[in-house]
Amino acid sequence: MNYIIDGYFGFGDNIWHIPFVHHLAQKGDVFISTPFPELFQFPNVYCLKPVTNLKLQLKNMTNNGLYSKSSGHKPNGQRIRFNYGAGFKQGLNVLQSFEAVVPLEGEFSFEFKPERSEAVDQISQRAKDSGKKLCVVRLPSVRKEWDNPARNGKMEYFQLCINALKDRYYFVSVGDIGNQEEFDGPEPVGIDERRDRHNVNHLGIWEVMDLIDRSDLVLSIQCNTIPICQLLRKKAFIIYGGYVPHWPFVDHRLFPLCSIEPEPFCFCVQHGTDSHKCNKEIPEDKLLSTLEKYIAGEPWN
Ligand SMILES: [Zn+2]
Repeated sequence: MNYIIDGYFGFGDNIWHIPFVHHLAQKGDVFISTPFPELFQFPNVYCLKPVTNLKLQLKNMTNNGLYSKSSGHKPNGQRIRFNYGAGFKQGLNVLQSFEAVVPLEGEFSFEFKPERSEAVDQISQRAKDSGKKLCVVRLPSVRKEWDNPARNGKMEYFQLCINALKDRYYFVSVGDIGNQEEFDGPEPVGIDERRDRHNVNHLGIWEVMDLIDRSDLVLSIQCNTIPICQLLRKKAFIIYGGYVPHWPFVDHRLFPLCSIEPEPFCFCVQHGTDSHKCNKEIPEDKLLSTLEKYIAGEPWN
């Protein structure tokens, strides 16, 4: 049996597709529409260019030689479409939602080795020279392309964490890659390297993967850093706002990340671009004590 997968276009979503594409490829040819063929370089997988206007996706697809392997192979087989939105409503996590469509039958192949980049070699060296560990930061931001301020944790909590860790960590901020974005709140002080803007110092998506692969800690909002850290098995502290809670991204097969959420959590699945405002309050002492316990390798919840 062969398979045709209409996948999600998000980078993080594509990461969660990896075990399912790998599993199906044991049974037959897999044709997947994906903007990120780099993630699916296993035998029997043929990546096809999807139609999209998303900027990061278009940038990655342009002149991407990995699609050429698929030329001359006509997609055929059973059509597969994943949908985790429906699964969340039934209490299924993201992997269980996908498994409702493609059962993994006990197999779970979730691997990726980022390519090393010169830009990240240099950042890594500067972090070493500082005598500190490396912390990658993804700050709350609003992007015009897919507006969702609801999910952002409060910027002031990021500043508190940076203040608490600044003597121990060298901070490098990364952004929502290739997209214009605006910070959701005053930009924190104490970032050692700002690589988060769409400018000369901006890191591309694969450089961010490489940087996170060499990090000691990631401090982030809810975004694609979650699947990136799960895939690369890197420690991450995720500060939530509202929108969707952390539990759908937790599974015994995935590397555990530390998350902190406002209580009560606003599971509204609304983007916050209308009059709705999610509760985003987290007690400061709880925020910092959870962070310190996680870093120390102690149980945090
Ligand atoms: Zn809400």
